[in-house]
Amino acid sequence: MSDSRASTPLQRLRTPVQFLKGVGPQRAERLAKLQLYTALDLIFFFPRDYQDLLEIVPADDLKEDEPASITGVIEDVDFRGTGPGRSVLGVLVRDNQSYVRGVWFNQCFLRKRFQVGQHVIVSGRPRLQGNRWEMAHPVVDIVEPGEHPEGGKLLPIYPLTEGIRQGLMRKMVHTALDTHGSDLEEVLPDSFLKQHELLSVHDALNKIHRPHSREEMEAARKRFIYQELLVLQLAMSLRKHQLNERKSALPIPVDFRIDERIRKLLPFELTEDQNKAIHEICHDLNRTIPMNRLLQGDVGTGKTMVSVYAMLAAVAAKTQAALMAPTEVLAKQHARTLSKLLSHAKVRIGVLTGSLTEKERAKLLADVAAGEIDLLIGTQAIIATEITFQKLGLVIIDEQHKFGVRQRAALRSAGNDPHYLVMTATPIPRTVALGMFGDLDISTIRNAPPGRQSVSTYIAEDEQRAKWWDFFRKKLREGRQGYVIAPLVDETNRDDTLGGVEQLLEHLANGELEEFRLEMLHGRMPPAEKDAVMQRFANHEIDVLIATTVVEVGVDVANAVLMTIESGERFGLAQLHQLRGRISRGKHPGYLCVFANPATDASRERLEAFAGTTDGFELAEVDFKLRGPGDLFGWKQHGMPPLRIADLQRDGELLAKAREDAFSITDSDPNLAGAKWEKLQRMVMIRYGKSLEIGDLG
Ligand code: ADP
Ligand code: MG
Repeated sequence: MSDSRASTPLQRLRTPVQFLKGVGPQRAERLAKLQLYTALDLIFFFPRDYQDLLEIVPADDLKEDEPASITGVIEDVDFRGTGPGRSVLGVLVRDNQSYVRGVWFNQCFLRKRFQVGQHVIVSGRPRLQGNRWEMAHPVVDIVEPGEHPEGGKLLPIYPLTEGIRQGLMRKMVHTALDTHGSDLEEVLPDSFLKQHELLSVHDALNKIHRPHSREEMEAARKRFIYQELLVLQLAMSLRKHQLNERKSALPIPVDFRIDERIRKLLPFELTEDQNKAIHEICHDLNRTIPMNRLLQGDVGTGKTMVSVYAMLAAVAAKTQAALMAPTEVLAKQHARTLSKLLSHAKVRIGVLTGSLTEKERAKLLADVAAGEIDLLIGTQAIIATEITFQKLGLVIIDEQHKFGVRQRAALRSAGNDPHYLVMTATPIPRTVALGMFGDLDISTIRNAPPGRQSVSTYIAEDEQRAKWWDFFRKKLREGRQGYVIAPLVDETNRDDTLGGVEQLLEHLANGELEEFRLEMLHGRMPPAEKDAVMQRFANHEIDVLIATTVVEVGVDVANAVLMTIESGERFGLAQLHQLRGRISRGKHPGYLCVFANPATDASRERLEAFAGTTDGFELAEVDFKLRGPGDLFGWKQHGMPPLRIADLQRDGELLAKAREDAFSITDSDPNLAGAKWEKLQRMVMIRYGKSLEIGDLG
């Protein structure tokens, strides 16, 4: 139990919530749904917002159409169904002799929230109905018994779960803070707090949970946002320092003769951006510090050629290289591209995918271990397998957003670490890149190779279908090919769109596209079949692919310049952009029509932004803004623990500062080993030690 006399401060802070006054086992179970298990968790459970109580007025003083808050007691709750899925909920609140009625339309789930006798604060825009005030869809705060709402205060609003009301949550957090807050240790040195004008942790906790003014609240939030970002960036810089110390990579030097030999193999002049990226990569490859570089560039900007260059450099240095693609289709495509380029060179290529037989696979692995394969191309199968390379110099991970960053660790070589080049076609806003990949160096390809044709993008509704298909057929008859992308049935299970694809194929084969050769491509097909379809599409034995988003990534067929996307409102911006990237690859201009019924403002805004520009970096910024902090470019997929209070979009400036401070701290104390940083070091390790694989700091 929680015997506070016999325990350490940390043990006391880890007191299970159920032992806190006013919580108990039942509420503890509910708190667990919010990942709140201990007093410490409650103390660091930050409000998601604040309700301004400055404007609570007597209901008598309400004015037509002027937003205000009143406080009172619920006297009546009435609920009426008015049709299928339609309802009106009314809640009558009395403040002395005056009444205010809150009304909600079609929100029957709110019905259970309100009970007669509850003390509430109601905020909204009052309208006089007859002689009574009404507020449509007001914000209602339920006040717990014993909690006294008063003017002149900001009321914290916490995230909630079923069975826990706002007032109760507030009380529990405050109890945890009052009984256990003093056990908390400050992690930042005094001098550091002063120098950076930050509140102490105790001061900040009080002010974040019980602010008296906006200024107080903001100063408190700033302390925690900064701290969270500092800890993140310290983790990044610790990791970077550790990698730099390893000096375990095989140097891959590229002199002018090797450079010339490689360029002779490439089918075209590289662009300025490609050359710049190659220059940066070669600088890293020449060292024994393992390269750890992210190559980002929009779809079609020619990242593959950059990676080919790097792989050939690795082979020229008599080391092995591995290339990992996110799908089998893409792995095979890379294998074909490389085999073609290298048909006259003495480079031995192996392809490792899930569809090899046991025997083929064993043979391949033996060859890799014996150094008889120079280039190994494959899918996740590469990391899912215990492979030992004889002399692995370089690993390239293509379309990195499909992998978790941490997966890279699984590749081993006898006696050395490889250089890593990670490629992504999802342009990442700068702040996210610093946040998520702050331990990597970044090269960017901004401009596509010259002569690239534009893609015209149309957002259309059903009435325009006939016209679009007319155009689509005309282009097919001119010899072009195209894609029709089936709607996503369920975002979370991307492969589960088979029904959509089959239906669409049947519909089009018997209608709009009956004179053409159509085939399906979807995630549930066996890899060999998928590959066969892709091959035939590339050979123009198929005119139109009816596909799910499996074609989204990397597929390269230059003659395919037409695309129809169904239910475009269900796709994310990055995904739409990836899809569009499929038809901007050749000498013919591309045409994309997105059929959509944008139901929400966000999806309308998304589609408008999409039609408005083809610049992936610009779209990434828009996407970032529209998505909000919830889903950060696969933050979770990358194994990163969620940020609790910082928001990389909003807090870009603090992030830059935290990064600078973090790197300057580790420059003078690379392991945070000094007594001054001891507590901070522990915090970094607890939070990121595992996910970022930071080794023992001693
Ligand atoms: P991504 O960056 O999306 O991986 P790819 O590497 O697949 O792009 O390149 C897209 C297309 O551009 C390919 O067909 C490729 O052959 C072509 N390409 C790449 N670099 C150049 C270049 N320097 N000049 C002309 N075409 C190029
Ligand atoms: Mg690519």
